[in-house]
Amino acid sequence: MSTSHDDPSLPGGAHPTAAWSWLLGTAPLTRQAIKRLGWLLAPYGFSCSVLGIGVLMGLLPGWKVALLASCSFTGLLVFYGLMRSGWHLRRREPSLAYARVLFSVCCVALAYALLEPARGLALQYLCVILVFDMTRLTTRQVRMAAMLTPVLIVATLVAAWHLGLASLDFNTEVVNLAMAAVMVPVLLIVSGTARRVRRQMLETRAELTQALERTQALAIRDGLTGLYNRRHLQQRLSEELQRQRRNHRPFCVALLDIDHFKLINDRHGHAVGDMVLREVARLLPPLLPPTALLARWGGEEFLLLMPDTAPAPVRELLERLHQALAREDWHALVEGMTPVTFSAGLCQSVATDEIHRTLERVDQALYEAKATGRNRTVTKEPA
Ligand code: GH3
Ligand code: MG
Ligand code: MG
Repeated sequence: MSTSHDDPSLPGGAHPTAAWSWLLGTAPLTRQAIKRLGWLLAPYGFSCSVLGIGVLMGLLPGWKVALLASCSFTGLLVFYGLMRSGWHLRRREPSLAYARVLFSVCCVALAYALLEPARGLALQYLCVILVFDMTRLTTRQVRMAAMLTPVLIVATLVAAWHLGLASLDFNTEVVNLAMAAVMVPVLLIVSGTARRVRRQMLETRAELTQALERTQALAIRDGLTGLYNRRHLQQRLSEELQRQRRNHRPFCVALLDIDHFKLINDRHGHAVGDMVLREVARLLPPLLPPTALLARWGGEEFLLLMPDTAPAPVRELLERLHQALAREDWHALVEGMTPVTFSAGLCQSVATDEIHRTLERVDQALYEAKATGRNRTVTKEPA
């Protein structure tokens, strides 16, 4: 999974270069907003190129196209500055989508007023804006934008006409604006549907992510005790061995086995046996250091992995675990219950040994602990 600073758009998921970081910033929301602004460069650039061709063909006055292009790109630059400086992060809507839509509508209104022969083009461009950003607006913002669009177009047109910058043919404008009056609501309905689909998709994605996280968390846990399960610890043991082979720092493994557990089952029933397992799993973890890992290895056996630790401190730790079980009032848990104890085998890893060799040694140590009276720890030195 990529970190929030990773840039998924970079080729091969590569890490952002210094140039990218300089251009886009490092805050994930800023990078996202600037990238989206970058996408706008394409339609803006394309429209200006088309208008440039119009100028070359003598269809459009050069100064009007230059004015329009400079207004558009200055606006985009201002948006870039607001985003790159982090100002947008203090806004309720950091994407500045609504402000961008209103700015684009202003550009369209200006284009419509100034470029008489290309007024149809300006209206087409309006469609691009609506499709590009409308899905990100709230219903209220969409309504406001829809109302403001014709008002801005008509107001700019009348102002330009007053200033002598544009000519006005009443009949043509009525037809053009009637077309816009049909087009804008249709686009709004479509964008509304797209917005709902997008919201549902985002909700579904969030739910799926949560479900995946829950499943992943459950997949490494034992159902009865909530401790790590055998599969997870096996994986961690392999990782520890790889680490040891790299940095020459051994780890310790201890196998803890509850003494005479079968008797508990026989005397009090399987449910009480389960309760004892849960109680042991509740009592031991708070006594472990943060780097330690305790797993239910199977039945009434628990495996303790202590990374980067020598046997002596683990022996002391196991002694504290023995004492913790001895202190527990088992009689209060189940009437007639004798104190629960465990035996443990302990050994340190050897870089040249595979995991199963280390586990065999720890098993032999446990066997010795059982054979020599139980409720004790036996350490097995490497052969
Ligand atoms: P020792 O001191 O030699 O370890 O004797 P023990 O009785 O603890 O060992 P043994 O291997 O003879 O018995 C373990 C018992 O644990 C047998 C099995 O039925 C029981 N057991 C295994 N898993 C569970 C479980 O999930 N719940 C319960 N209640 N019992 C379990
Ligand atoms: Mg056992
Ligand atoms: Mg046992």
